[in-house]
Amino acid sequence: MNDLLVMKFGGTSMGSAERIRSAAVLCEEAWRQRPLVVVVSAMAKVTDMLLEALRHAEGGDEAGLNRLLAELDAKHRQCSNELLEGEARDRTQRVLDGILEDFTRIARGVLMLGERPPRSVDEAVAAGERLSAALMAAYLESRGVDAFAVNGWDVIVTDAVFGNASPLMEQTREKANALLRPALEKRRLPVVTGFNGATLDGRPTTLGRGGSDFSASILAAVLDAAELWIWSDVDGIMSADPRLVPDAKVLEEITYREAAELAYNGAKVLHPRTLAPLMEKGIPVWSRNSFNPSFPGTRIVPETKDGPIGPRAVTSMLNVALVSVDPASAVLSGTRIMARSLEALAAANAEVLALTSSSYRQNFCFLIRQSELPAVIEKLEETFSLELAHGYLHPIDVDLDVGLIAIVGEGMRGHPGLAGRIFTAISREMVNIIAIAQGSSELTIAIVVRREGVEKAVRAVHSECALGR
Ligand code: ADP
Ligand code: ASP
Ligand code: MG
Repeated sequence: MNDLLVMKFGGTSMGSAERIRSAAVLCEEAWRQRPLVVVVSAMAKVTDMLLEALRHAEGGDEAGLNRLLAELDAKHRQCSNELLEGEARDRTQRVLDGILEDFTRIARGVLMLGERPPRSVDEAVAAGERLSAALMAAYLESRGVDAFAVNGWDVIVTDAVFGNASPLMEQTREKANALLRPALEKRRLPVVTGFNGATLDGRPTTLGRGGSDFSASILAAVLDAAELWIWSDVDGIMSADPRLVPDAKVLEEITYREAAELAYNGAKVLHPRTLAPLMEKGIPVWSRNSFNPSFPGTRIVPETKDGPIGPRAVTSMLNVALVSVDPASAVLSGTRIMARSLEALAAANAEVLALTSSSYRQNFCFLIRQSELPAVIEKLEETFSLELAHGYLHPIDVDLDVGLIAIVGEGMRGHPGLAGRIFTAISREMVNIIAIAQGSSELTIAIVVRREGVEKAVRAVHSECALGR
């Protein structure tokens, strides 16, 4: 069993009957050679449709909800019709109907209440992956593979942070091994839904958008897999998002730390938390293209053969907010203000993407995701209610017209003048730099710029550091 392979297929790789067929061929090939666990995302766009349906329901728009329910039904029905025939098709259609009924029941509850409680949302959106896993398992079975669908919530145990849950690894190890190990020993192929888990007492949760990568890495870690392959729609991890930088090149190898920094700073090809469970055991990850499976892809490893070579890739992030906390009076201890601000951020469950401070006045600013802004502002205003009321603190300032770019690579410290060259390249494009943060690991230089300048800045840095083909 120490040759176990975990493979994850993303939304585009599951996006149509034709794509599921290609993915199934890859599963079958691997399964004939070694024990295999497959993790699937919902078909492309389905999670968005499910969330939109719930928003319609919350807003009392029954017609909008019904339209989306019909679209979801048609999309999966068509896929099943194209993949399967006869009795297998009827049986699978009944499974799909049951999953959509579960979703509809919750959505009708939301419609009635006019409210969308996070725990109901998590239970409801799991439908996307349950539908795709049912289709994939049924199609594999029709090809003679002994596959079966597994709900992520039956194997992954998490805390109760609905919408962005974290795994409890020991409990997950127990549950996943109890359910999956005996099946693997019988040469069966589990097709597990990505994205979702459940609390210890069985309440469904999700791992954050794009979380199927994380599901796959959690399972690879607790099952002591030999490798994890993440199938997506690009040839691997590239020196930049190919949608922004046409001459971006595929990286043959990259370290865990580099890949994690890239993901954390916006490279959508990996969910930011994917690598954490694997680092300790050094389980290698391959990022591969299901549209081009003969290409080997990128290998993510503890250390690359070429060593720490300096800047390796550049990434960017929109939908961020720069929040400034600015004491109006020198009477306040800047350090105390900062400490209490960070506590407020933690209470809001927010992640700080960049943090800078340097001033006699002890003002400082930090960058967060826009989706986390309402909770952050609420907690900051609660924390500083007195200081704000008495004018010791200026009103908390929020700038939404910003974006983040990050240059990532091990060994950047060994490149004197690099930061200067990067700033000059950005300025040459007439893009204003608003804030700069360099982590103490010296693995990442993060730069906040005006939103409209992000793409130009990414291309300028990519070319200045000669990262392309
Ligand atoms: P999946 O549906 O398979 O999970 P995603 O859409 O989440 O795939 O991620 C793949 C996308 O990530 C690519 O289409 C690409 O545009 C984007 N991307 C962003 N940065 C990078 C990068 N550095 N290397 C490769 N792809 C990137
Ligand atoms: N389907 C989920 C999403 O769209 C999880 C994933 O695709 O990884 O966020
Ligand atoms: Mg993804």
